[in-house]
Amino acid sequence: MGKVRKKVKTIKIDVDKCNGCRACEVICSAFHSTPKYSGNNPARSRIRMMRDPLRDIFIPVYAGEHAAAECMGRDKYVIDGKEYDECGFCRASCSSRDIFKEPDSGLPLKCDMCESDPPLSEPMCVQWCLNNALIYEERDEEVEEEPRLEEMETGLESLASKYGLQKIMDAVARMSKKG
Ligand code: SF4
Ligand code: SF4
Repeated sequence: MGKVRKKVKTIKIDVDKCNGCRACEVICSAFHSTPKYSGNNPARSRIRMMRDPLRDIFIPVYAGEHAAAECMGRDKYVIDGKEYDECGFCRASCSSRDIFKEPDSGLPLKCDMCESDPPLSEPMCVQWCLNNALIYEERDEEVEEEPRLEEMETGLESLASKYGLQKIMDAVARMSKKG
């Protein structure tokens, strides 16, 4: 398999510049409402502020992958003497808390870097963060090409002819239980 170029998008978060204004939550929820900009509700935002003004804590956290089950433990960070809430930096939409879930349906929310047609010059939260706490960057990376479906089918056919179809199906069933 060959190499392909892939665009990697990142948002660098400078927590020292964030003042907890929540403009990022407002614009994210407005941009993703249907139709666009028809409403705004930070509870629907794909970025959420973990804020505790009395302790001078303002952390923007982006919604990441959905977690089917809660972690067995919890993590807590202490940075420069400030203790952050349990799971404070976690991006998962999981059943242990209410954030990163669509309030009406409970479906998980995930940041899409504002995929849009036509494409945005920068994600909406970055554009609206007047304190420059969110910095957008793009870079090209060379990665292994994903196997095409036809190639996977050919590989599966040869495995099935070598080991028998039932063994392959049993192995896939075991893998899906682990995953
Ligand atoms: S990048 Fe877009 S989708 Fe992701 S949090 Fe920011 S505004 Fe929302
Ligand atoms: S818009 Fe910027 S400064 Fe305001 S809460 Fe979001 S990240 Fe922080």
